[in-house]
Amino acid sequence: MRRKLHRLLRTVLPTLLSAMLLIGGTPYAGASSPLNTTIRVALRHAGNGTDVSSASLVNYVGHGFYFGYFDSSRNFVKNSVETAVGATSLDITVSGSTITVTNRQTSQMLYQIDTNTNYPLAIMPIPGPGEKCVTWLGSVKYYGAFEFSALSNGYMQVVNVLNIDDYLKGVVPEEMMPYWPLEALKAQAMCARNYVMTHLNSHGSFDVCNTTCCQVYGGLTKASAATDAAVDQTSGLFIRFNGELCQTYYHSSNGGATESSCNIWVTQLPYLTGRIDEYDTTIYTGFDNWSYTYTADEITDILNTKGYSIGTITSVVPTYTATGNMYSMTFSDGNVSLTFSKSAARSILDSSRYGKYTYSQRFRISSALSSPTGLYINSGANSLDNINSVYAVGGAGDISKVKTGGGNISVLTGSGLKTVNASGSGVVQTGSSFVVTGSGWGHNVGMSQYGAKAMAQAGKTFDEIIKYYFSGVSIG
Ligand SMILES: [Zn+2]
Repeated sequence: MRRKLHRLLRTVLPTLLSAMLLIGGTPYAGASSPLNTTIRVALRHAGNGTDVSSASLVNYVGHGFYFGYFDSSRNFVKNSVETAVGATSLDITVSGSTITVTNRQTSQMLYQIDTNTNYPLAIMPIPGPGEKCVTWLGSVKYYGAFEFSALSNGYMQVVNVLNIDDYLKGVVPEEMMPYWPLEALKAQAMCARNYVMTHLNSHGSFDVCNTTCCQVYGGLTKASAATDAAVDQTSGLFIRFNGELCQTYYHSSNGGATESSCNIWVTQLPYLTGRIDEYDTTIYTGFDNWSYTYTADEITDILNTKGYSIGTITSVVPTYTATGNMYSMTFSDGNVSLTFSKSAARSILDSSRYGKYTYSQRFRISSALSSPTGLYINSGANSLDNINSVYAVGGAGDISKVKTGGGNISVLTGSGLKTVNASGSGVVQTGSSFVVTGSGWGHNVGMSQYGAKAMAQAGKTFDEIIKYYFSGVSIG
């Protein structure tokens, strides 16, 4: 859906941030708190690779701008001296700690402020009667106002300050294909709305940035009638558990099962519980099946490059969660052992040097040389290394899928009843090369976007989608 870099960012960065948040507690408003619906989203900030020392604003509806600041309640306060500026085009530059605004047409300086000793300069476009304000910042159109402040690295921080639904109209079409079914877009809008409300003031002097680090936000660039409708039709609705706003994580595709938050990050939240996903696997994602073979030398090099001291790998022991997702991998050189668990198990084998990745938490690892260690079907020549695609015929002739991830199952053999380790957990894999096989893309926690698409195509509504992926929640 997006470039590989974005894919990796979506995989890795949210993991770090989410882990921090899950450790740090619950920085969100309770049901009884009034919900502040003005959002502060950074368009340029220190360290996001898009340093700018100048910017331009053009009032798209042809009016001027007010100068002022946002108070602690996020209300715009017009400067008592400077008022409306008739100019429709402004240039904003930074020098030291001073922000300067000039009229582009006349080059006349309109405003100058030291944002270190005063406040970030807020510039509010003036709408015409019955018009909604749209402003060009560079080559992108945005709703709302803008805040400029000098950074210590000599560049400018630019923050877009706007109503939550106007913000969401710039998120939904970036995070989900705008032509996907409306109910899936509405579920996406719900998740994005909760996400930003549970991340207020969590990102330096703003709420969220505009990249995959938080949620991709592109102003009006990709907004369509359908994505706007998804926001408008869910306006004011939040996903709650016991009245509290939920942490609504989402991922592209889980490949067959979501995962409990404690098995990926740290804290278990009651509504982020892993489940087999009957919808995600019914739809083409582009990440339905991926597999890479790593030589022992490659794994050793990857671990060494990432700072771990270990000799040539001779074995790996995987363990899996109850839903069959990867939980941990223990690599050994026969002397030293290293264990990577939870989200670290997903990222440790990622290597741009070798072009090999584990894109989601749903993968298995086994020796490439020895035969699979799991089940034999009818004879030793037909083997499976797991029971994900095993069906059983019942006494009444009914056919049902064998439950996966349940640990051990009993089988009738020529020498009586035997127990089979159906999950593959804890089975030592040895050899000089190892195969990872998986499906999905993302951290597996919360809503699957492709799963939501499949549910919408199957006639499910947005609230049914939300309640499928977030157990025990209410909407309101
Ligand atoms: Zn961010």
